[in-house]
This record gives sequence, structure tokens and C-alpha cells, in this order.
Amino acid sequence: MVFDPRKAADPTATSLLTIDLAALRANYATLRDQAKGSECAAVIKANAYGTGAEQAVRALSKEGCGTYFVATFAEAETIRAAAREATIYVLDGFFAGSGPAFAEKAVRPVLSSLAEIQDWAAFCRERDQPLPAALQFDTGMNRLGMPHGEVEQLAAEPELLASFAPALLMSHLACADEPGHPLNEAQLKAFEACRAMLPACRASFANSAGIFLGARYHFDLVRPGFALYGGKAAEGREALRRVIRLEARIVQVHDARAGTSVGYGADQSLSRPTRIATLAIGYADGIFRALGAREGQSGFTAYIGGHAAPALGRISMDLITLDVTDIPEGLAHRGAWAEIIGEHVSVDDLAARAGTIGYEMLTSLSSRAQRIYTGSEAR
Ligand SMILES: *Cc1c(COP(=O)(O)O)cnc(C)c1O
Repeated sequence: MVFDPRKAADPTATSLLTIDLAALRANYATLRDQAKGSECAAVIKANAYGTGAEQAVRALSKEGCGTYFVATFAEAETIRAAAREATIYVLDGFFAGSGPAFAEKAVRPVLSSLAEIQDWAAFCRERDQPLPAALQFDTGMNRLGMPHGEVEQLAAEPELLASFAPALLMSHLACADEPGHPLNEAQLKAFEACRAMLPACRASFANSAGIFLGARYHFDLVRPGFALYGGKAAEGREALRRVIRLEARIVQVHDARAGTSVGYGADQSLSRPTRIATLAIGYADGIFRALGAREGQSGFTAYIGGHAAPALGRISMDLITLDVTDIPEGLAHRGAWAEIIGEHVSVDDLAARAGTIGYEMLTSLSSRAQRIYTGSEAR
């Protein structure tokens, strides 16, 4: 029997985010196979891209994942509570004074400047304990990491490198989702050059899209995020299995006369008698205002019982109005659920409609939605 999350919904729930942990595990296995021979870590920053870090970590650990990357220390604490033995890296690094917190939770900072390395080395010397950390190079993105010159300086200070335990050399690709982009090869070369200056150490370069650039980009450890959660890693590449489904409840259905208008700003007037369903979800739930409709411009489309229900008028903070004139009344009624992301519309498609990327859509999704996890019993 197919599990129906709606049956598991709290009667008071107005929106539902269903997360398929079996699909998450399957995606992890696919990416691991794609990078055979390398360790496959998981990037679970921003609450596992909105899906729920704790549940994601438990599921991925069952699949054999042992290394996690988060953005902040607070995120690392959540992961540590769910995975006692895991290796955890904090991408945003370390500030002087935060050493004891990192040491206590056995969390590793990703160090991205000589100054940061000096702070970490000083902390380790103080404790007389060479604690592990990753070193990040900037190989062409100009965002975070040591540029070539700084790596040279570091290489000239072996005592600095001896005060802690460099565990991973890493860098991040700016254009991995465009396989033909010349910056990919340029960054790869720059990465090799930086590595060559330092003592041998495990290396990591590829995010989701980087994994699909081929084995030369894999090194010892790959760091997928978005593709794990069902996002399309690169243009022209099929997404892996869908992980999330977002639904909202109809709170009212009513008939409106032709010539009247819908919503704030009276931006859309009705050219025919229209049945309108009002959904209990809005831009405060990550359904961006850019997805609304107005005169002469259609918005996004929700699905009710498999039937298309186009948005009418502007998106409000907590409400969305849909045109359900052509949908059987038995389907579009108060209390019924409308699918916003799911079988009919992917995260990437909806994001594209809103003029953004799936990453932003995923990480903006409602904290108000009731989260239901399925597939946790798998395998
Ligand atoms: C977010 C992030 C990743 C994961 O990227 P995806 O494109 O989501 O796979 C990997 N490495 C670093 C440094 C990141 O910031």
C-alpha cells in the first residue's frame, strides 16, 4: 500500500512538507556510485537544504555516510547530536575564542585564510593537542579560501602546519553546473598547484555538479548537497529521485463574478465567472511573490487531484488564490489538499518560474509546514 502523508497530517495542519528519506538514501547511493573510489560526504547545511538535518543525518548514516559539511557551528551541534561518530566540518570556519566549542564537540573547522590558520594553530598549541581541520584554497571563485600566494606563505611555515592536524585540502567550483565552462579546468589546475605546495593530504573538490564533471574532479572525497535532495545538479542532466512534496490546504472555495478582481492591488480582473480556491500558504512559506499572476501574465500552477489550478492574482503572506473553475467540485473543496511541489512540478521548475534556483526555493520552504518523513524504515 502506498503511504498517504495526508492521512498522517495533523488535523490542524495547513501545509505539509513530506520528505522521502528512502529517496534521499537512494540519491546518496547514486552519487557515491558515480564517484566510485572516493568517499562520499554529505552537505547538510541550512537544515539539510530545508528537509530537516536531524532526520537527513540519521537516514544518510544508515546508508554509510560518515562525513558531513555544515555552514555554522550551531548546525554542527545538531549533527553531532544525531551522529556521535561522524566527521563534521564547518564551512564558515572558526573565530578566535570558539576553539573550546569546536574541541568539545569534536567538530572540524574549514580554515580559509592564513590568519584563521594561525588562530587555530595557537589554540591547538595552547591545548597541546594537534586538532584536525580542513584547509580551503580559492582557486578562482574569489569567495572563500586562500589564494595561491597565501598558500605559498603557508608552505614556508612548516611549524604552523605542525601545530595542528591538516585533514583535508579543499576548494569549491564556481561553474560546475556548466560542464563546458573554461573556469572548471582552470580551477582544477589551480587546485593541483596549491596541493603540490603542501605536504600530502586528502583532497576534496566536487559538489553535486562537480561529481558529474568526471573522475579527475573527484579526488578523495566528494561533497554533494543539492542533488541529494532531488535537485537537478546541472543543466541538461536528469534530477535524481524526488525527495520532497509540498502541499497546502484549501480554506475556502467561492464563486466570483466576471469583471471583479482578485487579491491585493486588484491586479487581476476576472474575464469569466470564476470559482476560486484559497490556499493556506503564501510567501512567508517560501512561495515567492514572483510566482503570482496579474493581468496578462500567468503565475505558477498548483495541482488538485491531478488537475491544473493556475494562480490568480498576487501571492499574499499566508494565502494564495487559485482558479478551480475547471476542476470537479468533488476535488476542489474546503479541506482538500493542493500540490505545489511534487509529481507535477519539481523544485527546479517552480524555482525557474520564480526567477531563481532550486537551492533558494528549497532553503526558503516553510518552517510552518508540518514535516512528515517517509521511508525511514527502508532497508
Ligand atoms: C554548499 C556547498 C557544497 C554543496 O554544493 P551543492 O551544489 O549543493 O552540491 C559543497 N561545497 C561547499 C564548499 C559548499 O559551500
